Amino acid sequence: MSILESFVALDFETTGIEPFSSEIIEVAVVRVQNGQIVDSFQTLVQPRKMPSVSIQRLTGITADELRGQPSLEAVMAKLRRFVGASPLISHNADFEVSRLRMSIPVAELPAVFDTVELARIAVPRLPNHRLETLVDAFSINNPEQHRALGDAQTLVEVFRALVNTLRTFSPARLETLARLARSLPRPAPPYGAIADLLLEIQAAAARSAFDQVSAPPVRIGALTSLPNTFGAFDEDRLDPASSLEDIDTEAVAKTLGAHGDFARAMPAYEVRQSQIDMARAVTEVLNEGGTLLCEAGTGTGKSLAYLVPSVTWAWKNSHRVVISTHTKNLQEQLFYKDLPLVAGTLDVPVRSVVLKGKNNYVCLHQWHEEIGLPAAEAMDAGRALLLPLVCWIYETESGDLEENGAFQTLLRYIPGAYSLAGRLSSEGKPCGRRTCRYYDRCFVTRVRRAAQQAHIIVVNHSLLFSDLAADHGVIGEYENLIVDEAHTFEETAIDYLGTEFSLPLVKSVLEEITTPHARSLLTRIRANLRRSKIEDATRKSFEVQLGVTGQAAELAGEKAEAFFRAAKNELGASHPSSIYSSKMRYSSQANVFDEIREYRDDLFFALKTLHDGLQTLALWLRDLPMGGIPEQDELLADTELRQADLARLTAAMDLVTRAEDEDMVYWSEMPPHGDETRLKFVAAPLDVGATLRKNFYPGLRSLVMTSATLSVAEKFNYFRQRLGLEDDSVRTMAVKSPFDFDNQVHIALPGWFPEPRDADFEPEVISLLQVLIPKIHRGTLVLFTSHGMLENAYNALKQPFEEQGILLLGQRFDGSRSSITNRFRQDRRSVLFGTESFWQGIDVPGEALELLIIVKLPFSVPGEPLETAQSEALAAAGKNPFLHLAVPKAAIRFRQGFGRLIRHRNDRGAVLILDTRLVSKDYGRAFHRSLPTSYTVYRSQEELIAGFEAWFSAEVSTKP
Ligand code: SF4
Repeated sequence: MSILESFVALDFETTGIEPFSSEIIEVAVVRVQNGQIVDSFQTLVQPRKMPSVSIQRLTGITADELRGQPSLEAVMAKLRRFVGASPLISHNADFEVSRLRMSIPVAELPAVFDTVELARIAVPRLPNHRLETLVDAFSINNPEQHRALGDAQTLVEVFRALVNTLRTFSPARLETLARLARSLPRPAPPYGAIADLLLEIQAAAARSAFDQVSAPPVRIGALTSLPNTFGAFDEDRLDPASSLEDIDTEAVAKTLGAHGDFARAMPAYEVRQSQIDMARAVTEVLNEGGTLLCEAGTGTGKSLAYLVPSVTWAWKNSHRVVISTHTKNLQEQLFYKDLPLVAGTLDVPVRSVVLKGKNNYVCLHQWHEEIGLPAAEAMDAGRALLLPLVCWIYETESGDLEENGAFQTLLRYIPGAYSLAGRLSSEGKPCGRRTCRYYDRCFVTRVRRAAQQAHIIVVNHSLLFSDLAADHGVIGEYENLIVDEAHTFEETAIDYLGTEFSLPLVKSVLEEITTPHARSLLTRIRANLRRSKIEDATRKSFEVQLGVTGQAAELAGEKAEAFFRAAKNELGASHPSSIYSSKMRYSSQANVFDEIREYRDDLFFALKTLHDGLQTLALWLRDLPMGGIPEQDELLADTELRQADLARLTAAMDLVTRAEDEDMVYWSEMPPHGDETRLKFVAAPLDVGATLRKNFYPGLRSLVMTSATLSVAEKFNYFRQRLGLEDDSVRTMAVKSPFDFDNQVHIALPGWFPEPRDADFEPEVISLLQVLIPKIHRGTLVLFTSHGMLENAYNALKQPFEEQGILLLGQRFDGSRSSITNRFRQDRRSVLFGTESFWQGIDVPGEALELLIIVKLPFSVPGEPLETAQSEALAAAGKNPFLHLAVPKAAIRFRQGFGRLIRHRNDRGAVLILDTRLVSKDYGRAFHRSLPTSYTVYRSQEELIAGFEAWFSAEVSTKP
């Protein structure tokens, strides 16, 4: 019986989202025979514990309906009879299989085909492979979502669509997929059944059988590759004009004005004076050179304000302009939406490239090496990561691994996947360049060549700093730079100009040299040596040296473990075991390594011995006659690369353990529960501004830095000081948001509230949230400044909110940042408790977010090593560190947090700031002067609730 013709589709609904602690509340199976649904079985199941309110809302299955339904045991017996020996399909089958195993002996379990795994192979580019995403991508109608029978019927359609997509793959690729799937060992997912299915699809007989059933069309838009260049790339390089020509400032302003190109091209175009002002200023900087800091409030349309002059200027002068962003979202918006819009509207055939680090692109040479490994050498569960690449690699235009959603997902949860991903990337192994047989198709070569010809290059801040470290070997020479999301520039600079040393870092370097994978350096040299024709005596000496080097690598691993264990013991008292990570500063005067010097010296010695061993191998490989052993050049290059890795590792260890550079700050970072395997030592530059002033700004002719939050109390002093831009020639400007904040937002403070340091503060916060949120009952984001308080509030309110039908989502409790943000967007009356990363970067326009609650002013956690050292430096220079560092830093974060509420001119909402220091302290001025409109101080909880209700109901009454 072919799975393509006859199978059973299975779905369960459960009491919660945690698969293994949840109970089944509904079961449905659908039987397909000869491509047609011929039978089905559906029933509710009484659980021991009733589902949460949010699950009842999601499924529409109420606790009342579940009472008196059959037990799971009774239902499973029926299910077993219905399924019989038929092959099963299921989505995310692990859960279903584990439950079936409880009532069906393993030997009698039918073959189970997981549509998630199949989808990752067939449509890997989708951002995720949830059932609803596939339903959308394949345009399948699913009227009864989150009900077992509806989902089981939909699963049949999804399965057909996936099989039809796989049928378009060539027989050779299907065979490669099947071979790879079959070779995967446990604990990889059960790919054996998938391998059989792939071969069955490949078989002509099965194909014709399946032709009898109709399948929904694939929505190509969701599945096609995104290019990383646009424009006509037919010239070798840019040919920059020898003398630069100015562009007309007024013409740029007119383009964005009421009768300009954009107004003519876009029917819904809105003229924004702030955007025009900013565009004028950017034009002047491009024409004259210099530096501009431009704060552009939300809704200014700042990307158009800098793209219009940049595109015009770059095209006119054949010069490059580099644009850097912090987030991937903005990078994609600029490259795929705004740049084509600007180039098209201005009718300028500008060439643009989005450029990423080499580690983002798959290396075709490495890919062919990995995929060609014989099964016996490929016993590595991490190789499941190759499955979603098999067909993608022939279709992708960019080779950018980020566009492969399945690869990114598997990377996170398959053991050993990161190591394989590192090897597959264009950074993981030595590059043969022109001698590489894939050179003409090489993704890195192509995109870098395109960048040489491009007028506009879009990058991220991290790449800018990697490029700086590589002496512009990544982006190439450039003189004109626009930095968007500039409020994060210092943070990224600190990360990239600093150094880390940790056990995972040591292990990742050692793993490339020796075990466990078949492509490690020593294993490859050994295998090629066996196939070589060199004399026995030379081979034996080589083998001895390989043995010695392998032992040195093993010893280095042991010494590294001993070092981190000793360091953890030594640091134990300063880093008490906690569920949160903690940091401790040290210096050469109070150096934690003094007490464990012998472990440090042992590790140094072991790493050096390994380095010397590799050096000897490199000398031998170099001295062998050409072609002495297969892959000689490549092995030599790889040996030298690993030597360089070790040299970098030893330098990092030297820097963090000596702690002697006074321009750096040093600290240890203990992960939760004092796990020494994740203990790390960090060195970061004390004054990033000084480094940038010395090494970065002098290479630039023009620089624009922009963000919605650069100033504090309308002054740029803080940003200028942090970034080393205090020179008088630096221009600053702030353009106001076009939003009508007086009418769009209501800001409130609880005048009766204790201050945060008061012991009553936390209970008061929890008690107010418990009353206020159900009363207002609108999409609510609560921003905390500590995980501890968030956790206490979450634990106290989860149950009461659930009982009132309010979905409460907590950071670290209900999934990843992106998944809880998505659920928050979808459930318009839900509540999200977040800290840290939720203060910036999340965008929830409309009714999903109408109430923002800021629990405390976001001062940094006391004792942050870098901030402490920066404070000391300010104090030594005669400045007040609290006013010059702590307050402005918190004020910028506060403005970022505040900015989450109003994202669009139609948004409307209320902000409640629970920290009364905003009005009671002098420094509070820095915060309330950041607010775009006035605030109301309420005297009691009742007044506050009444005030909010009145304001929100006024909104209803004023709506047309
Ligand atoms: S040229 Fe280098 S990066 Fe490109 S495919 Fe070849 S080895 Fe990989």
